Amino acid sequence: MKVRRYKHARRFLSFYKNNYQFRPPYQILIDGTFTNMALQYKINLKEQIPKYIGEEVQLLTTKCAIAEMENLGSDLYGAMSILTRFKVRKCPHHGKPVGASECLLSMLSESNSHHYFIATQDPDLSRHLRKIPAAPLLYINFNAIVLEKPSMVSQKTAESKITSKLAPSAEEKDTLKKLKQRFLPQNERKRFKKKRPKGPNPLSVKKKKKKQSESNVLNSLPGREGSKNRKRKRRKKKLTSQVE
Ligand SMILES: [Zn+2]
Repeated sequence: MKVRRYKHARRFLSFYKNNYQFRPPYQILIDGTFTNMALQYKINLKEQIPKYIGEEVQLLTTKCAIAEMENLGSDLYGAMSILTRFKVRKCPHHGKPVGASECLLSMLSESNSHHYFIATQDPDLSRHLRKIPAAPLLYINFNAIVLEKPSMVSQKTAESKITSKLAPSAEEKDTLKKLKQRFLPQNERKRFKKKRPKGPNPLSVKKKKKKQSESNVLNSLPGREGSKNRKRKRRKKKLTSQVE
């Protein structure tokens, strides 16, 4: 179980590295819901996150996330005190703190160009993160840290990036056209055109002729004169079935 969890983490990390240029040290923005859960399961985040990710990490938070925990009172003092041990990353809410989830979302904006990971247990924040391409999400499931599988938005955006990379650009298409014109002169192209088969499929034409000749041979055979009408009828049937 433990091995599978680590394998998944490696695979998902490779996805973010290959498709979105994530590089260590990975910057992990943490909120109070995550430290609170870590406290409940006695998980030492400074030890366990780098061990799980397998590469260098920076554990970060924001002033807004700390302020939110301070406002929630003494019950969450432990979770707040863990949060204050992390580096504080500057957010755009100087002097006017907002909720932790709003703050962390503003740090990522639309494309997460700074390559942040978010560590949270907040279901609303997680739902929003899944709509942003390349927003890795860490959460705690029972006593284990888990990197969530890349969201559908992340996967589809990565796929479309690959497709657009492989397809020739307008400039490349133009160059190809010019090259073709240069290496394939006008009369040469005409010659190739002549080689193309014309008219209906020659096999079907041949078949028709064969049937007609067959029936003619039968009709012309001696002793078959009396059955001429029957033969004609059968031929008509064959023809109608061919039309069908
Ligand atoms: Zn903030």
